[in-house]
Amino acid sequence: MKTFQSFSEIQSEIDSGKLTVSELIQYHLKQIEKNNGRLNAFLSVYGREAQKRAAEIDTKISKGTAGRLAGLVVGIKDVFAYQDHPLSCASQILEGFESQYTATCIQRLLDEDAIIIGHQNCDEFAMGSSNENSAFATARNPIDEARVPGGSSGGSAVAVASDMCQVSIGSDTGGSVRQPAAFCGVIGLKPTYSRISRYGLAAYASSFDTVGIISKSVEDASLVLEVMAGADNFDSTVSHKEVPVYSTERMDKKYKVAYMRQTLEHDELNPEIKAATLQCIEKLKLDGHNVEAVDTTLMDYVLPTYYVLTAAEASSNLSRYDGVRYGKRSPSDSPESMYKRSRSDGFGAEVKRRILTGTFVLSASYYDAYYNKAQQVRRLIKDEIENILQDYDFLISPTTPTTAFEIGALNDDPIRMYLEDLYTVQANVAGIPAISIPYGFDNKGLPIGVQIMANSFNEQKLLDISNQIITFKDQNS
Ligand code: GLN
Repeated sequence: MKTFQSFSEIQSEIDSGKLTVSELIQYHLKQIEKNNGRLNAFLSVYGREAQKRAAEIDTKISKGTAGRLAGLVVGIKDVFAYQDHPLSCASQILEGFESQYTATCIQRLLDEDAIIIGHQNCDEFAMGSSNENSAFATARNPIDEARVPGGSSGGSAVAVASDMCQVSIGSDTGGSVRQPAAFCGVIGLKPTYSRISRYGLAAYASSFDTVGIISKSVEDASLVLEVMAGADNFDSTVSHKEVPVYSTERMDKKYKVAYMRQTLEHDELNPEIKAATLQCIEKLKLDGHNVEAVDTTLMDYVLPTYYVLTAAEASSNLSRYDGVRYGKRSPSDSPESMYKRSRSDGFGAEVKRRILTGTFVLSASYYDAYYNKAQQVRRLIKDEIENILQDYDFLISPTTPTTAFEIGALNDDPIRMYLEDLYTVQANVAGIPAISIPYGFDNKGLPIGVQIMANSFNEQKLLDISNQIITFKDQNS
């Protein structure tokens, strides 16, 4: 079967009777069977159930009663609740746990007749940038299997890049959808904070967590966003703003774009990624957009702010895994040692590091010096970006400072691993939408991503400029 670049191609094959949803599921299951043993993109595959649903959807299609996503095969990161299916967060601590309800965003896909083919591998509790923190297996980059796919939604990007599913749903707290998308040569969209309900998404850092989409086309990301976004009674933080029709025709408008000089001059930035970003900027100018450099004074504070605040929130969120309420319970002779042993045995090293850091920055003696200070700096960063975005439609930057690195290369150096998030965390600190678009390759043939950020709730124009960038013909390859 040919590889479909977008869901609309699938739909037209289905409409013309050349393809059935059952055949499509068969194809994706074959891809999984052939590749998942090596690539470790999926932790659970729901093959039989997906086949059954495909047959039901084929019947609906023949009766003309099928939903908007009939024929869309979706994989979900293993941090989303899906009723009566296992939920592991790629952690030992949730051993044997099954969800009792379905996340709102996933339910909305199901209601439109999408098929969930399985739960995907990721870093434990979405903490990491390489997928190496999974308690089960390291996902591999399909472009070079000795390299990481990025993280934390690594399995989700691998699955789309290797055609195990058409679209993946990931979570993005500091770049977890955009960074693996960049490493695997696909699209990663992180909407505005609160645009999509977080009900049923296992919490990492609640004031940063967003549901994101990994796809091959901007068109697919737009449609899936439209279906998932909007008010939800189960999440009091979700926005009640009306959901625009993101999937309409292209607007092809000309925009004002800024780039922060300091992002492109950063020591950690790989020169080939810098060159690709500059090339994209030139192409935007040639295309009639206005692109200008602006300055930031806060670049060096973005990552520390992110890591102080997310660790604090994680230490609070993860206190619920106590051996009593969910999953794993280690045997012991007293309740207190049971809590300790369950948490010591159940969590991996990186999750423990974050819980310890978070507990430290929230402790009475250090609260003001770290947590409070980071909250203040978060406000400054948000204000600075919002100020820029009053004068410009977008900010452009690289998605990542490096391309995909070798498995094991950064394992002993958490700071270098955190530096992978240099460009992505900004959008989460500010709560604004951002997208990573594939833009050429480095000299090893590894994909490069450029990132575009927009002001809150400006997804529609973000998708419009993405549609324009993705068709630029002079991407280096
Ligand atoms: N790599 C970042 C972290 O480890 C981002 C994770 C995410 O977005 N979930 O926190």
